[in-house]
Amino acid sequence: MRFATSAASSLPSAASDAAAARAGLGQFEPAWTREDEEAVRAASAASVAVPEPRASSSSASEAPAAAPAPAPPPLLLSMSADELKALAVSHGESAYRGTQVFDSITKGAATIAEIRGIPPGWRAKLSEEGFDVGRAPVHSSALSADGTQKLLLRLHDGHVVEAVGIPSRDGARLTVCVSSQVGCPMRCSFCATGKGGYARNLTTAEIVGQVIAVRGAFERRAAAAKEEGAGGAPTSARRPIPTRVSNVVFMGMGEPALNLRAVLPALREINGRLGVGARRLTLSTVGVPNTIATRLAAENLQFTLAVSLHAPTQELREKLVPSAKAYPLDALLSDCQAYFEASGGRRVTFEYALLSGVNDSQAHAAQLARLLKRYDLRSHVNLIPFNPIGDLSPFAAPPRAAAAAFEAALTAAGVPASVRGSRGSDASAACGQLRNEHQRRGAALGPMPLEPVGLGAAAAGAGAAAAAALV
Ligand code: SAH
Repeated sequence: MRFATSAASSLPSAASDAAAARAGLGQFEPAWTREDEEAVRAASAASVAVPEPRASSSSASEAPAAAPAPAPPPLLLSMSADELKALAVSHGESAYRGTQVFDSITKGAATIAEIRGIPPGWRAKLSEEGFDVGRAPVHSSALSADGTQKLLLRLHDGHVVEAVGIPSRDGARLTVCVSSQVGCPMRCSFCATGKGGYARNLTTAEIVGQVIAVRGAFERRAAAAKEEGAGGAPTSARRPIPTRVSNVVFMGMGEPALNLRAVLPALREINGRLGVGARRLTLSTVGVPNTIATRLAAENLQFTLAVSLHAPTQELREKLVPSAKAYPLDALLSDCQAYFEASGGRRVTFEYALLSGVNDSQAHAAQLARLLKRYDLRSHVNLIPFNPIGDLSPFAAPPRAAAAAFEAALTAAGVPASVRGSRGSDASAACGQLRNEHQRRGAALGPMPLEPVGLGAAAAGAGAAAAAALV
């Protein structure tokens, strides 16, 4: 589904906001139409109502889809250990065989052929009956000099999504940035993802599969580096390549709060099945009504909630984030406050993309500090210098000194803040850009180069910059 877009603003022009006007924001401000509103509502409803495709179901559909998707094959990745044990027993195998399948898939088996240790007869039977692990193959991959690696994964219905692995500089941690939707309906004006349109919500298995895929890519790189090292190649300049996922952030494509039906179980599985600490999971949202103070606050898992603010006033926020028209800043922050209280004091982190001449002045910093101090959130603000999205967008990153001055003004006003460096910036492509490039090339050109990967095409961007906050 692609939204009707309108270059003209649906709002009265904000003559008072000279900086925004200078940046030509009025021209680029996307209208938030009734169609948008309905699409977001549909995505939200789908998040509650659409069943997860499972081995026993052949009729699951994943609304809202651009076109009717083929019925998904039975997915072993979406089955619990108990379900796999029951499957094994129903096929005349011992329950232990089901556990083997579960463990093997958790470790990275991407096909039935790769599942370790099961009898050849059962392996053949699983294939004959149409079972499939449900892992999306890597369509293409881009590697940055700092070790950040972005994967474009091809889903069963032909859509592609991005997942990024960001190693810490000392190699001790590996943060995986996952997508929650194919595209995004929110269409924040500076974000590449929305520009590629919105297709559908991802399933839990498609989200969990991204973490396993990124970990696998790092494992392959680590193994290759080790082999080279053993062969006598110089290793001194090489950074260590982590293979254990330490953090997972929902900062890739999509708005996770529109897909909580799949995202919340994915958070639990990434924690329980893949072993990533609950406090090292972050869900980033631009704000969807009736999610923060209710469903997210009620979730028992101790993940971090990050809220994308980007502006200190409703007027400016509406220009940057069209969905803000349906969820005013005051309501959003009141919900954050309610979340803080209802969740037993879980802090909310704020994200603020710094856009030169638009929202990065000292006056904006003072307004932002005043705004946040009206609430008792004890929050931290992560400042993300704009990551170029390679189109005619009117935005630019502020000079380093302006970002530092913004940070200093917030900190001096008693609001802790830090500027986050962009990772993968030598191959700078914001989240969604690799997919956009894929869409432009079209099917005729075929897939972009597969691994082994080179520098330069595109790597991590916006999500990775935000995710760098955790690295
Ligand atoms: N939909 C979620 C996740 C988005 S990606 C959300 O809105 O929070 C994570 C962060 O990167 C968000 O704060 C998003 O607004 C920001 N971002 C997106 N594109 C960007 C860009 N080109 N430069 C800087 N930050 C960007």
